[in-house]
Amino acid sequence: MKAYDSKVRYGWDNLSKFLAVISLPFLFSRSSISLIIGLILLGWSIVRVLSKNPSKRKREEIVFENWSRHANYWLDIAEDKISGVGSNIKKWYQRQKWKVEDRKRFKVIKCPNCSQKLRIPKGKGKLLITCRSCGHKFKKRT
Ligand SMILES: [Zn+2]
Repeated sequence: MKAYDSKVRYGWDNLSKFLAVISLPFLFSRSSISLIIGLILLGWSIVRVLSKNPSKRKREEIVFENWSRHANYWLDIAEDKISGVGSNIKKWYQRQKWKVEDRKRFKVIKCPNCSQKLRIPKGKGKLLITCRSCGHKFKKRT
């Protein structure tokens, strides 16, 4: 006993649609190899649509959907990685910009008492500086 009506055609499923869509660029390409690939893909798609063996087609569909789920999963991961690299580059660039601006606004001096490096703002006239390491106070032109 057949589990399905043999007169019913299987019709369009996601796999057939996918095959038909990806066949198009091949069909419109000038190379004869592409044309053959396009015809095979389109032919496969049409054979599936007209098929009277839905259970077999359904199995193909399930395989295809598993495959596309995996493909989506890996595409998502790849996208995450790429955008991660992108934002790292952005952050690095921002840091370089801050460093350059820092150099314009601050200068680094040494504490005369303990040689601790201190960052002081530029162009503020004479400042009373307190060393953050030893607490030594000294005046310095900036
Ligand atoms: Zn000091």
